[in-house]
Amino acid sequence: MADKPTLTTSAGNPIADNQNSLTAGERGPILMQDYQLLEKLAHQNRERIPERVVHAKGWGAHGTFTVTNDITKYTKAAIFSEVGKQTEMLSRFSTVAGESGAADAERDVRGFSMKFYTEEGNWDMVGNNTPVFFIRDPYKFPDFIHTQKRHPKTNLRSNTAQWDYWSQSPEALHQVMILMSDRGIPRGPQFMNGYGSHTYSFINADDERFWVKLHFKTQQGHDFFTNEESREEIGRTRETFQEALYGAIEDGNFPKWTLKIQVMPEEDAVKTPYNPFDLTKVWPHGDYPLIEVGEVELNRNAENYFQEIENAAYSPSNIVPGIGFSPDKVLQSRIFSYADAHRYRLGTHYEALPVNAPKCPVHHYHKDGAMRFFQNMPNPDAYYEPNSFGGPVEDPSRAEPPLKISGDADRYNHREGNDDYGQPRALYDLFDDDQKARLHASFAGSMAGVPSEIIERALGHLAQISPALADGIRGELDN
Ligand code: NDP
Repeated sequence: MADKPTLTTSAGNPIADNQNSLTAGERGPILMQDYQLLEKLAHQNRERIPERVVHAKGWGAHGTFTVTNDITKYTKAAIFSEVGKQTEMLSRFSTVAGESGAADAERDVRGFSMKFYTEEGNWDMVGNNTPVFFIRDPYKFPDFIHTQKRHPKTNLRSNTAQWDYWSQSPEALHQVMILMSDRGIPRGPQFMNGYGSHTYSFINADDERFWVKLHFKTQQGHDFFTNEESREEIGRTRETFQEALYGAIEDGNFPKWTLKIQVMPEEDAVKTPYNPFDLTKVWPHGDYPLIEVGEVELNRNAENYFQEIENAAYSPSNIVPGIGFSPDKVLQSRIFSYADAHRYRLGTHYEALPVNAPKCPVHHYHKDGAMRFFQNMPNPDAYYEPNSFGGPVEDPSRAEPPLKISGDADRYNHREGNDDYGQPRALYDLFDDDQKARLHASFAGSMAGVPSEIIERALGHLAQISPALADGIRGELDN
């Protein structure tokens, strides 16, 4: 016993008995003064924080990013400053729709987030395992997510709601194609690519801006469950992804991804036939080839899942000098909504939690609120700005060059004049016959129970991608 620490209350008072409650006589009631029991029960009541409304079920690990190619002509970001440079990082992967207890091996898009602890602050890459998304205007995000969640009356997920929405939102079809393809049910986080999805900007030391797309290519290869295999897998375990990722790292099989970028000169943004800031579109590789940048390796499991993964708070608003935003409307809205979700979920000063805290000095004037457990800045008199007491000041040399895009403020119709079918068609044409057969079956499966007029409306759009796609799905529906 002597080598074990003494159990204490959270205030540090030694506990004499952690087995028996304090009662008035052996058969008598518990006494109010058993504050140790009260504290224990009160803590248990508070062991959960609000789960994320989306991306609730997650898996993650710590790792290292290593630069393998010089891209300093595109960006001055310190993380990319020299070949061989390493930066600590933290990943979190997730399903989108399922609650925190949902089965991992469900057909869904996967979140793919990486926090890089650079010397100039945290850079959060908050992407998905798909290069596009279901919406191009953030006004539609709550509506779309409601169709993925439970029906208010039945409390069941609703194929009808999903297809009612998709069949009236053709911009979603590119992402739906990817979701219904083999990549819709990966076998684990390490068997899928990650994509920044949005267009971001890189800014170099000469203040030149480039538009950029980020691709994290799996080095483990793509591996997926078919619909039949996933049903069997979910019967075996709900924790497929946790087992795959945690187990691989414990076994020393460290998952790796190659980071590649597509780079677009700033002026090209007005020349491409598609809007390069449209989240439902990719940049064809033939137009903007992939350039290698570096390698992500996940090599350390969390010691405490809750502290390090559940508490991890990613936000696209976390950028660093040399990496900037773009006019992508959905990115612009996420700059607000992700940080806001964390302020609600974790508390005002969530970025001071160890797993979120930058590894560089932090100087700000935010004052009180939940989790104010960090000290005053060097001088406690400098708690506003400007001040005469040596508090931190702005650095104009860190300003981004002006953005050369402007226009009339209006609510532009995001569905008018967009080709929603060409890129999904290019993807469909890549699939071999077996992939197409599985795709048709997955589409048909997702339409179970959907009223025929909604199915017909959806097939009308899918036929514009390819008549063979619509016919293939119809054939499965008739089976
Ligand atoms: P390419 O032939 O150069 O690229 C095709 C891409 O398709 C590859 O990057 C491949 O990804 C990806 N792919 C293969 N199977 C699937 C799948 N089941 N789900 C999602 N992606 C898959 O042609 P383009 O660049 O002209 O693109 C053609 C179409 O490919 C696009 O319209 C888009 O649907 C899809 N795509 C394009 C990407 C891009 O950034 N250009 C990225 C991903 C998909 P990988 O190489 O990673 O295996």
